[in-house]
Amino acid sequence: MEKMIEGILEFREKDFEEYRSLFEGLERKQNPHTLFIGCSDSRIVPNLITKTLPGELFMIRNIANIVPKYRQSEEFLATTSAIEYAVQILNVENIVVCGHSNCGGCASLYFNDKDLEKIPHTKKWLELAHPVRDLVIRQFPKKDDPTREWLTEQLNVVEQIKHLYSYPFISKRVEENKIKIFGWYYLIQRGEIFNYNESKHLFELIK
Ligand SMILES: [Zn+2]
Repeated sequence: MEKMIEGILEFREKDFEEYRSLFEGLERKQNPHTLFIGCSDSRIVPNLITKTLPGELFMIRNIANIVPKYRQSEEFLATTSAIEYAVQILNVENIVVCGHSNCGGCASLYFNDKDLEKIPHTKKWLELAHPVRDLVIRQFPKKDDPTREWLTEQLNVVEQIKHLYSYPFISKRVEENKIKIFGWYYLIQRGEIFNYNESKHLFELIK
């Protein structure tokens, strides 16, 4: 905690002063251009890896950057309501679903029931990526196949993009060319981001 307290003070004295006019301009409004849906993983820092400033990215972060399919519900839907707000109220121009290497959430898809006992809500949440897991297992049945890891992480991004299209207000805006959807894969140890090319069905390094 001490490290963070020192950081708070240093932020106020140095960074805030450097960007004072930006923060003052953001006092009563935000106009983010992009909804960024990323993993909760501590190694993923969306503003850092995209060199964006406060006010630019509206963010959703959850285990394994998952988008539940659209449904009407009386439950408390955190991810769904944030998507709705970003699109319907903030009128974002882009939606990015960003997966990453060495994703613990994606790895948990392969845990057995005993391993998942302690994390029942995570287990339930990850059901939203089961089509990905099942597809990967069919293609690479060997448990220790190293391909499984990155393929799961990348196919999960593609799957969650599919889920985005189930939101009527998103598919309508895509048709009207008012919103663009991107799938990214972030390679932690190299600082590289790969963009999903839908027609080629593969991720290409952004350069
Ligand atoms: Zn992750």
